[in-house]
Amino acid sequence: MFDEKLRVGIYGGTFAPVHNGHIQSAKAFMTQMKLDYLYVIPTYLPPHKEVDFSDRPEVRLRMCELAFSDVEGVVVSDIEIKRGGRSYTYDTLRELSGENKKLFFLCGTDMVLTFDTWYRFEDILKMCYPVYVRRENDKIIENRIISKITEYYNKYGVMFRRIVTDPIELSSTQIRDAVRAGKDISGMVHPLVEKYIKENKLYE
Ligand code: ATP
Repeated sequence: MFDEKLRVGIYGGTFAPVHNGHIQSAKAFMTQMKLDYLYVIPTYLPPHKEVDFSDRPEVRLRMCELAFSDVEGVVVSDIEIKRGGRSYTYDTLRELSGENKKLFFLCGTDMVLTFDTWYRFEDILKMCYPVYVRRENDKIIENRIISKITEYYNKYGVMFRRIVTDPIELSSTQIRDAVRAGKDISGMVHPLVEKYIKENKLYE
């Protein structure tokens, strides 16, 4: 039967700053999961990370808006920033879920490995289709992922779907370090994000 539900993607992160690995993954996620639209959601306070408060949420939000300004179907959302406090995926999915939607939730490989430590992760699995994308070319990590998603399947009956892309081995940490060292970041971030980082003297 024809499925009339909207296919909605969710991609959250600290995005400090958003980089080309995020952009490539988001695009592949939209295409491969046939999404009607994708929410890109910068966290207010990530539950598992220390953030530098010079990297304000509004700044990270603005960089996401710039990075995805030329990608149709992406909605950069301030839902977690408005909510404040620790940003739990569970709360975000609850807010965004609805009768007429199927939610697909994307995470990179590092997140898959720790997923079962997340707040109410079993409920998260009931609210969305989890999807993962590789961020490294590393056979050892690949094997750990496979055994972890097999464990999730055996314990919770949920299979993580996989996005196939050539991984871009890049992290926000690398970009912050590169800026601090005065190196060129033009191949790592969207040109508008590069300009914004320079103009606002971020990460110096
Ligand atoms: P940091 O270096 O500050 O820890 P990060 O590069 O890991 O940052 P996050 O904002 O923490 O970026 O990541 C948001 C989401 O994007 C996570 O699910 C993460 O796994 C994923 N991700 C980050 N970098 C990549 C990449 N190069 N390719 C694919 N996914 C990525």
